[in-house]
Amino acid sequence: MRELSIYIHIPFCVRKCLYCDFLSFPVCDGINYVNQSPHAKNERISSYVNLLKKEICSVSAQYEEYRVVSVFFGGGTPSVLPLGAVSGIMERIGASYHLAKDAEITIEMNPDTVSEDKLREYGVCGVNRLSIGLQSADDEELARIGRIHDYRAFERAYETARRLGFGNINIDLMAALPGQSVADYERSLRTVAALSPEHISAYSLTLEEGTPLYENRESYRFPTEEEDREMYALTGRYLASCGYHRYEISNYAKDGYECRHNKVYWRRGNYAGFGPGAASMVENVRWSDPADMGQYRDYVQSMAARGGEETKREPSDFAPERQILTRQEQMEEYMFLGLRMMCGVDEGEFSLLFGARMEQVYGTVIDKLCADGLLTGERGRLWLTERGIDVSNYVMAQFLFDRV
Ligand code: SF4
Repeated sequence: MRELSIYIHIPFCVRKCLYCDFLSFPVCDGINYVNQSPHAKNERISSYVNLLKKEICSVSAQYEEYRVVSVFFGGGTPSVLPLGAVSGIMERIGASYHLAKDAEITIEMNPDTVSEDKLREYGVCGVNRLSIGLQSADDEELARIGRIHDYRAFERAYETARRLGFGNINIDLMAALPGQSVADYERSLRTVAALSPEHISAYSLTLEEGTPLYENRESYRFPTEEEDREMYALTGRYLASCGYHRYEISNYAKDGYECRHNKVYWRRGNYAGFGPGAASMVENVRWSDPADMGQYRDYVQSMAARGGEETKREPSDFAPERQILTRQEQMEEYMFLGLRMMCGVDEGEFSLLFGARMEQVYGTVIDKLCADGLLTGERGRLWLTERGIDVSNYVMAQFLFDRV
């Protein structure tokens, strides 16, 4: 059976963080979701969950020959969903897909939206990996970027999750925050590592145009490019000394705890995304659900209505636009996604997939990048050097065919 990963998009957050340009809507400023009774579910959220379930079920027949090896609830803030919603979605997936017994099932959580009851529910319905968005262990830094939680709220969520037996937890950390020095960042990094989570993601803040933080950028001192690189180097060094290995540019794991779901993206595996704006790629056909909520609703209704047709239709048939990736586009993606991983790309696999040797296609580019000290390799594999990681966007761009 072929493998499939499922991504479920939950486009709601309690409140927008000041730096965020992800597709998510603030649902209810001022409401404490932890104490929300199951009977007082937000109408907007529950009708969205029903829509999601409809989408998941209406295309399941197309995936009859696939085994689902991972499910990822991302957002937005999936933990904003009221009690019963995540298990309801998992029930539908379990009933209509071949869900592997050992599937990795992750949910992203914002510390202030977590409760013991929700964590129990996650455990019961099969969630076996938690990803907690902490970003910083410093309350002033958290307030500056508009996070709704403080460090204590994170600690409570983390301790509860451990007490309930969750044995695979990721913590998200951010570097290059406004007003942050290298020493400040190091304190957060050490605090997080001391908790010994199985996985740590550490990304630098990107100032996105149109966000409140961008508009207000003159009010802060942001770390310089050199400080940002110093924070990155420090992350690798310090986490290595704590038993983590870097397996992707910004991701660190203890042995056996690399995120299987994210590796599917970097390895160009098959994934189906559900929810507004969610991307899918199955057998080299790529499409996205409409990002606008109204259009997304129409899209799901039309899929559900035509689900009973006798002619077999692919989920991508309903998408506003779908892209059938050419062989060249597949090669480009193989290189620039594969090189994000520290294990790099494999020459033998490239030949098998594309019927051509990597050297024939990219020989000149590879020779130049190796000579510049940005790429290295042995035994049929190629990967980024430390210097290559520092300029990874430049390196990846060299593999685009209009540059070759
Ligand atoms: S919790 Fe995440 S998705 Fe939601 S607003 Fe903050 S950064 Fe954006």
